[in-house]
Amino acid sequence: MSQTLQARRLITASQIIEWPTVSISSDGTIAGIEPDSAPRTANTTLASTFFDIHTHGGAGHDVMEATPEAFSKVSSFFAGHGVGQYLPTTVTASVDKTLASLEGIAREIERASTSAWDALHARPIGIHLEGPFISHAKRGVHPPADILPPDIGLFDRFQQAAVGHIRLITIAPEVPGALDLIHHCAERGIRVSIGHTNATAQEARAGIEAGGRSTTHTFNAMRPLEHREPGVLGVALDEEALYAELICDGVHVAPELVRLWLKAKGPHHAILVTDSMAAAGMPEGEYVLGTFAVKVANGRAFAADDLDQGKHTLAGSVLTLDRAVSNLQRFTGAPLEVASRLASRNPAILLGLGDLIDGMEPGRPANINIFNEAGELERTLLHGKAVC
Ligand SMILES: [Zn+2]
Repeated sequence: MSQTLQARRLITASQIIEWPTVSISSDGTIAGIEPDSAPRTANTTLASTFFDIHTHGGAGHDVMEATPEAFSKVSSFFAGHGVGQYLPTTVTASVDKTLASLEGIAREIERASTSAWDALHARPIGIHLEGPFISHAKRGVHPPADILPPDIGLFDRFQQAAVGHIRLITIAPEVPGALDLIHHCAERGIRVSIGHTNATAQEARAGIEAGGRSTTHTFNAMRPLEHREPGVLGVALDEEALYAELICDGVHVAPELVRLWLKAKGPHHAILVTDSMAAAGMPEGEYVLGTFAVKVANGRAFAADDLDQGKHTLAGSVLTLDRAVSNLQRFTGAPLEVASRLASRNPAILLGLGDLIDGMEPGRPANINIFNEAGELERTLLHGKAVC
């Protein structure tokens, strides 16, 4: 059945349309957008659904489980938080475990591109490989025994297991062999994000030169800013063309630095991610991230082994992307059109998928987030159907 939505505003890739009426065909695509036609009492804002390029799971499941059951739970949970598409993200694990996970995730990505996929579930559309080619010094919670020197042959085995679905990879550019691997990936259209890195400014610049296009959870697991050796963080903030992910939960990065990051990156190169793990959307307790144990308490996820030794190492987050968008508005005062863009259009442009994802235009799938006057997500449509 066809339907119409009327709103105060519609945010498209290039403009804001006031008082729109959006008609949606029975096949779930946008049939037309008529400006200046909604009743003047309309108070919602419509925008494209979100695209999370860094998430390990939620709703009790880790994407490395790589089963249809895990993906069904995770994808349904994400859709309930405004996400239309996402990149399931691996953490460092043994080579065998990584290969097995990549095979399973690739099967789910292929299933998600067919009509067998539940239309009310967010779709996994590529893989973010986070580790094993990272720095020991900035490994965060990634298990040290499984961290490996960058290796083109091994990467190719991973990409083969993933049936070519690795679209984004986190690499520490200062590790010997990293620049060759960055170059290898960039040449094949795989986006490289600099992260889990202790790079100096010069080493970070070499990584960009080799093809690095973004930074992974900027500020976290990264050499800190120092005014005579700005390090990778100084370069991440200063280098205009570089994209920069941020976990906007108020725990991983203080609001002052969220503001500084947004001022530095501007509305076109800042990217909101969740880095969420299995415990997102679940009661506090014990969970698994990749292959290691995580304890969740007070909205924070910590590596269980480190906790036993009295250390508090953050192990992913329990953040959802709708919350990140609302936190961003609250921390920075940025308007909804900017906050929403950081979680939809910018990641899509980084991945070279701008046309595929952010399509609030006739003929495109009606993947629409509906926000209330306070800029909070109220409802989500995927292919024209309401997600509960
Ligand atoms: Zn992560």
